[in-house]
Amino acid sequence: MKKIVIFVLCLIMLSALCGCDVLKSVVGIDIEPAPTAVPTSTPTAAPTTAPFCGDGELDVYVIDVGQGDSILLISPSGKTMLIDAGDGGAFDAISSQLTKLNITSLDVVVVTHPHADHIGSMAKVINSYEIGSFYMTDFVATTKTYERMLTELEDNNVSVYQATSDTLIAWDEDVTVQVLSPIVGIEYDDSNTSSIVMKVSYGNTSIMLTGDAEKETESGIIALWGEDALKADVLKLGHHGSSTSSSLEFVVAVDPDIALCSLGVDNDYGHPHRETLALMEELNIALYRTDLLGTIKIVLDGTDIQVIK
Ligand SMILES: [Zn+2]
Repeated sequence: MKKIVIFVLCLIMLSALCGCDVLKSVVGIDIEPAPTAVPTSTPTAAPTTAPFCGDGELDVYVIDVGQGDSILLISPSGKTMLIDAGDGGAFDAISSQLTKLNITSLDVVVVTHPHADHIGSMAKVINSYEIGSFYMTDFVATTKTYERMLTELEDNNVSVYQATSDTLIAWDEDVTVQVLSPIVGIEYDDSNTSSIVMKVSYGNTSIMLTGDAEKETESGIIALWGEDALKADVLKLGHHGSSTSSSLEFVVAVDPDIALCSLGVDNDYGHPHRETLALMEELNIALYRTDLLGTIKIVLDGTDIQVIK
């Protein structure tokens, strides 16, 4: 009970501080329900003016943002999706990647969870690019970085949706973007465990994107979805290769050929942890790391996967 009272007080204080409708939405007062229907079109007036022309492949860029995550997806028809925006210094890396690809708007943006190494540059992204729809969870942070992000969402009139395990993100009619977690009905008391985990499938190829999901999240996903639903060719390792993520059960269920790890050179956390590296070796999974390779591009053509370093 005490915890609930403190939580409510924090929400009231936050609302008073930023006076922001988006925050009200996020805490369940007037959030727009995620459009979970068949993903045939984007739910809002999406900026489909992206000059980038689709090449019939699903391209994934794990942008080198140092210690953090920022992943760009371009659909076979040229739709764009940005998942997370690294830390406060990541904007240049993100914007130069977008500029290189001639991308001036983002059809979908996803925030996996509100830690600074994932939302650090999100306010700048929101302020700099037109966004069709924005997905996040109802996990509330009490940081200035989080408040700035909410303020920019409101100031730029971005449509915000809550993502849960019953959400299919509408993006490209040939690609399925299934949110696997956070699981409806579960209350997460930790930002990492509340991460949005999603499987993006195109033809017979797929990638599992995990934010900073921990082993606890992975167990919940296995229990809800079953192992067969989790198979994916590529796995973005949870939490930058930490040993608190990537349980044997989860990695075996996903059964990827390729694993991706987004992290900084000589980071303070010792990522990737040796347990994770040992698991990749034991299971014969090829690991690609941004600290060693810089930005990594993966191409999923519906049949095969190709890594372009
Ligand atoms: Zn992180």
